[in-house]
Amino acid sequence: MPEWRPRLRESVIVQAQGRELLFLCTADRTVKRFAADDFVKHVIELLDGTRTYAEIERSVGDAQGLGEVLRILAEERLLSHVGDLEASFAKLGEERAEFYDRQLRLLQDVCDQGRADVRCGVRLQERVDRSTAVVCGVGGLGGWVALCLANAGVGTIRLCDFDRVESSNLTRQALFAVADVGAPKVEAAAVRLRAANPFVTVESFERRVTSAADLADVVDGAGIVINAMDLPTPNDTASWVSGACWPDVPHILGTGYAYHIGVLGATVLPGSTACWACVRAETFADHGRHRMESLIGKRRKAGAIGALCGLVGTILAWEAIRVLTGLEPALSGKWSEVDFWPLEIRSRPIPRRPDCPICGEERDGAPSPLGA
Ligand SMILES: [Zn+2]
Repeated sequence: MPEWRPRLRESVIVQAQGRELLFLCTADRTVKRFAADDFVKHVIELLDGTRTYAEIERSVGDAQGLGEVLRILAEERLLSHVGDLEASFAKLGEERAEFYDRQLRLLQDVCDQGRADVRCGVRLQERVDRSTAVVCGVGGLGGWVALCLANAGVGTIRLCDFDRVESSNLTRQALFAVADVGAPKVEAAAVRLRAANPFVTVESFERRVTSAADLADVVDGAGIVINAMDLPTPNDTASWVSGACWPDVPHILGTGYAYHIGVLGATVLPGSTACWACVRAETFADHGRHRMESLIGKRRKAGAIGALCGLVGTILAWEAIRVLTGLEPALSGKWSEVDFWPLEIRSRPIPRRPDCPICGEERDGAPSPLGA
């Protein structure tokens, strides 16, 4: 306790007017007001993590009053769990600490908000460092996902794509430059990702995927798999990715974009959230389409612009980072689409179906949840 260096969360701004203190948390927009005298204001000014508890106690001269102020601040989640922030970052080594500085500050605040199962943001970064993510399809969506995962420091990034870079890709595919036209996408992407972050390892799988079996070695041991393949259709590729990942590997499916709609898909955590079969069962019958034949299907060349692909890709990358760090995912148990015209995200719930042939607890041969 005497060596503890109490510190307000970095996202908290404090303003004073007379005997009122206003705490504004810029991370989640919460606002808290307290009546405060000069003693409390003095204590607040000392909580920057540079002073030990014992030093603050000597400075303010009222141990009981100091303890009471700190207790209330801790209860209101206004104090950080980590006193000396830079010292905690240094556990990663000097180079990593500097490289990830801003990200570590965000992760620490996530811990301070009580959203993680650990108190120190460095622990979350270590999970990212040790993790493996798979990006299936390195195009208008997967490229942005892979770039954000590399920036974040995902230790091993596996890329899977059969295609070569074309000039018509360059308006929206973040990893490629004019000089890459004609090169295998996974190779050009790997060069770009290694340049973006020297701490990550990139593995390339140049192959055309036509079944779940084609992905078995790619997804093996991964912490998250993001499906960004759209040929022959996003539903076909989602089925293959789901089949390859089940029942061990979390996956994000049903992703895509066309014109001004971005599909954020569903995050599947096997055993705890709705699976791809549940998603299909819920959405397949929309408009009665499941009874109809297709006369004119989706065009092979869908309209797209990089600004919108990037938004979908970065949202999916953030979701992947949440899964890898053990934070609560935002896209599980629902189907979400972002409409870029009004700039709105719309979601519909996708319940886990008890009779689902893949994940249902009442499916044939599965034990009844009540043991009856
Ligand atoms: Zn299911």
